[in-house]
Amino acid sequence: MKKLKFQAPTGMHDILLEDQGYFQKIYNACETVLNFYGFQKIDTPILENTALYEKGTGLTSDIVQKQMFTLRTKGGDHLTLRPEFTPGIVRAYLEHGMQSLPQPVKLYSTGPVFRYEHPQAGRFRQFNQLNVEIIGDDNPVLDAQTIQIFYNILSELKIKNLIVEINSIGDNQCRPYYKKLLVSYFKSRDASLCADCRRRLKENPLRILDCEEEKCQRIVSQAPQLIDHLCEECHSHFKGVLEFLDETELPYRLNPYLVRGLDYYTKTAFEIFTEVPKKTEGEPLLKRALVGGGRYDGLIKLLGGEETKAVGGAMGIERVVSIMKSKEMKGVKSATATIFLAQLGTMAKRKSLKLLEDFRKVKIQVAESFGKDSLKAQLRMADKLEARYTLLLGQKESLDGTIIIRDMKTGKQETIRLERIVKEMQRRLKSKR
Ligand code: AMP
Repeated sequence: MKKLKFQAPTGMHDILLEDQGYFQKIYNACETVLNFYGFQKIDTPILENTALYEKGTGLTSDIVQKQMFTLRTKGGDHLTLRPEFTPGIVRAYLEHGMQSLPQPVKLYSTGPVFRYEHPQAGRFRQFNQLNVEIIGDDNPVLDAQTIQIFYNILSELKIKNLIVEINSIGDNQCRPYYKKLLVSYFKSRDASLCADCRRRLKENPLRILDCEEEKCQRIVSQAPQLIDHLCEECHSHFKGVLEFLDETELPYRLNPYLVRGLDYYTKTAFEIFTEVPKKTEGEPLLKRALVGGGRYDGLIKLLGGEETKAVGGAMGIERVVSIMKSKEMKGVKSATATIFLAQLGTMAKRKSLKLLEDFRKVKIQVAESFGKDSLKAQLRMADKLEARYTLLLGQKESLDGTIIIRDMKTGKQETIRLERIVKEMQRRLKSKR
């Protein structure tokens, strides 16, 4: 086949008909669960000022260092396609004076996120997220509730084998001291670290903890753990979160190496994985991250607001779709018509156009193929759509002001007055229910 001149950009994809039902089902579940918990939807621009991410997400994060799609407008503004939602949501919270609303403000968003990554299975350069934020409260119950909300959405979608991993990464009281400990531990072993981690040692030593390189993991396994060095406030907050989680009976495990990639996190960091058993026995389980999040008590102040505590998280929609598909689950089916309207001749076509509108007004879905003139082709279409009734409007019927109802099951045909057809079909569809 000839190679097409234009293809979707690397790592980006079209969401085609067969996948739309999955997205719809996921968004429906998100909306139902989030409405229950009193969340409101917010949409922010896909582009934000680059400086917002540099300051918010942080200059030392992988996202800012390597993954942003940044552009300069004709007017000279530096803008970036959002690589994550939180800084934009916080910007909107401050810009629209949401501090004066009753706190906490519970917001959610859905939409595309852009990261310049090395594309591979489950890792794209444009993907969609559900993002959830609870802004304006520091109670540990809200950390637990954020986790519970994502867990409930995934359970609602019947995603199995979920496991929550949780850690506390401290705050600016205890983290600097721990960082020092960590740096001195890794410094004496830096020759054995991967190149990325040697860079991280200077810029963001915590990130070494979740490096996936085996040689780094070996060193990490002996490293001091932040959980042993939390200040009193972080310690009691973390204890609180775990106690609330115990109450919810969610399966969770502590992961002292979970640090998340963003600079603004404080205290709680969590991820939700699903475990996919490997095909051959004895092999370890494959973990697929579906949700990531945490507390970010310093971000709002950092972006120019009053000190305001907050917690949130994000779920990758494509990852959930891929699991639903692999388990042969179904998405939302688009509504199908049980009636097909066939026409023959110019006058009939004209009348059909008006008749279709009459059906739309009473919310009865009717399929048609107005572009086709051959009756045979139209009936074939009606068969393919498995229509229960076909309405036939030929030349004779158009002149007489009648229409034929054909019962596609029995093959029985009946002619009635055109002005009665909508009422008649309403009656038939009702009695069928
Ligand atoms: P993160 O904040 O990076 O942990 O992202 C939150 C969630 O978004 C992850 O748990 C994944 O489900 C999803 N995600 C992150 N990066 C990608 C990507 N490049 N492609 C697809 N999904 C992603």
